[in-house]
Amino acid sequence: MIFRKTLLFLFCCLSLSVAEAQHWNQKKCAVVLTYDDALDVHLDNVIPVLDSLHLKGTFYLTAGARAFTQRLPEWKKVAANQHELANHTLFHPCDGSLPGRNFVSEYDLSKYSMRRLIDELRMTNTVLEAIDGKKERTFAYPCGDAKLNGVSYLDQMKGEFVAARGVHNELVPFAPRDLYTIGCYSGNGQTGQELIDLVKKAMQSNSLIVFLFHGVGGGHGLNVSNEAHRQLAQFLKQHEKEIWTTTFLEAAQHLKTAGAVKK
Ligand SMILES: [Zn+2]
Repeated sequence: MIFRKTLLFLFCCLSLSVAEAQHWNQKKCAVVLTYDDALDVHLDNVIPVLDSLHLKGTFYLTAGARAFTQRLPEWKKVAANQHELANHTLFHPCDGSLPGRNFVSEYDLSKYSMRRLIDELRMTNTVLEAIDGKKERTFAYPCGDAKLNGVSYLDQMKGEFVAARGVHNELVPFAPRDLYTIGCYSGNGQTGQELIDLVKKAMQSNSLIVFLFHGVGGGHGLNVSNEAHRQLAQFLKQHEKEIWTTTFLEAAQHLKTAGAVKK
């Protein structure tokens, strides 16, 4: 009898730990690669690496950016290849009233009306739908500014976005949470090994890790080298049995089930 109880106990523990480790599409962790601001280097340096390894990324596009408006056929190919095209506004407004924001000029969020901001966010969704035909969209706050004159602007349009990415550092657990403030780690000068070490932390803690890249091999002041980016991508491919590399949209939809499980 005691033997049977012990067996039962062991079986329960084993199933629990397996279930824990299987939160992320039967993998130890999830990794989302996001690329902000619609830069030329995303098409020139990032897409060839991701496509060669069959990895999917999320591109937070500023629809008014030159590398978007001038290269629409290439972005269509990106979408057709199952990468996520996501909303990073029409003109990238940031709050110029905050300290250290001398770079903000024409598109100053603190001078926007709520109506203008919401109209521009909706217009960006429309532009992206014209490119990829999709209705579901995720969002990333330009400069991490989630408030317009003290008011959380996405609050009034949550039905129009599945989730949003912030800019605070965070390993995201599989647990009920606010899907509109998912944190990330920003790529800026790290080596490939340093980026890989962050993924290893996510594997150890059964978490989701979101990377935020701007420049890759140049193209922006916040930058990682092509070599570092390639090493990270190759690590993700080599460990694809343990790591679920997916889009922000798919990861957010997966996190939604965590809330559903809790209820
Ligand atoms: Zn941005």
